[in-house]
Amino acid sequence: MRAFNAVGGTPRFMASGSGARLTDVDGQEYVDLVGSWGPMLLGHAHPEVQAAVVAAVARGTSYGTPTEPEVELAEEIVGRTPVEQVRLVSSGTEATMSAIRLARGFTGRDVVVKFAGCYHGHVDPLLAAAGSGLATLAVPGTPGVPESAAALTVVLPYNDRSAVEAAFAQHGDRIACLITEAAPGNMGVVPPEPGFNGFLAETCRAHGALFVSDEVMTGFRASRQGYWGLDGAAEGWAPDLMTFGKVMGGGFPAAAFGGRADVMAMLAPDGPVYQAGTLSGNPVAATAGLTTLRLADEGVYEHLTKVGDAIRLAAAEALTQAGVPHVVQSAGTMFSVFFTGQPVRDFADASTQDTAAFAAFFHAMLDAGVYLPPSAYEAWFVSSAHDDAAVETVLAALPCAARAAAAA
Ligand code: PMP
Repeated sequence: MRAFNAVGGTPRFMASGSGARLTDVDGQEYVDLVGSWGPMLLGHAHPEVQAAVVAAVARGTSYGTPTEPEVELAEEIVGRTPVEQVRLVSSGTEATMSAIRLARGFTGRDVVVKFAGCYHGHVDPLLAAAGSGLATLAVPGTPGVPESAAALTVVLPYNDRSAVEAAFAQHGDRIACLITEAAPGNMGVVPPEPGFNGFLAETCRAHGALFVSDEVMTGFRASRQGYWGLDGAAEGWAPDLMTFGKVMGGGFPAAAFGGRADVMAMLAPDGPVYQAGTLSGNPVAATAGLTTLRLADEGVYEHLTKVGDAIRLAAAEALTQAGVPHVVQSAGTMFSVFFTGQPVRDFADASTQDTAAFAAFFHAMLDAGVYLPPSAYEAWFVSSAHDDAAVETVLAALPCAARAAAAA
């Protein structure tokens, strides 16, 4: 996406970032609505995060031993979410890959269920495309993934309870886990319909499968407690396993998976399921994530809500004025704008977008100094550093960009 493959044109090479803004190598400044694809909850080069990181670097960058920051970061995650134990890794991909291995090891089963349009990193069995019918095993979604890896994955349409029921009826005793984004943000933002995640948790429980909630994007972003804070916390259920990344790394490579203590007990060295990483729990990354999470109090989430509301309402207004079909959807403080006239509840709906209209919109925003995600299928990310001036730059750019979309 950073190569502008979805929107065309020359990708911008950024030279520096500060607060809500990025500056490219030609000295052009942009209000950033990508936030490194989610991590930069507090904006770029936050003074306190920066100071903590600089101090950590001065103490050495990696020891390959336990450290205090990794334990404190794990405690911060356990404190905000229902996971009982947590294991740190270096990327969201590693987190979901390890969670699936653990689910397979714990259940002694091999099939994994996922939803079309949910992205969980470039894990072979999760880069699978739906087979010919509902509840059929999948085919590889990319060259390089062997058929045997994809053949253990079932891909279903999102928000579709009857498809989930059919898959469990057909494969129930072979399903190790169902993995879903807690609120998908990788096909644009598609909130789960009310009760959907609870239904998934219950269905998995009834069939002896594990429910894996991927909060790599939503964790510590959709709310202080991630998306779970907006559904499971109130409805009284918890995923068996969860994955985290992005915000918890504060702009450094750090991610995690965790969950039920009895499931985590299967992990090496306590249990037989192998998992390890040279740079896991790296002290610099853990310090960046820990400092970020400690600064991310309720006031930060209130600010994200306020700024997000202002931008999405103005985007909707500008597109309406210009006569461009669109739908704005949100999940907690996350939101995105779809260039289609119909509500988006799954990937098929998201695929009805007018991507040419989006490309014209994107480039007009870029020309006006706003760096949007360079794809119509991505969430827009704000930060606590998006002040009135940054929001004003975005709002001022919208009407002209909406007219460009209308003309495309
Ligand atoms: N899961 C989700 C929900 C994600 O959004 C992403 C990254 N966009 C990943 C997993 C993979 O994370 P990473 O890019 O750090 O491997």
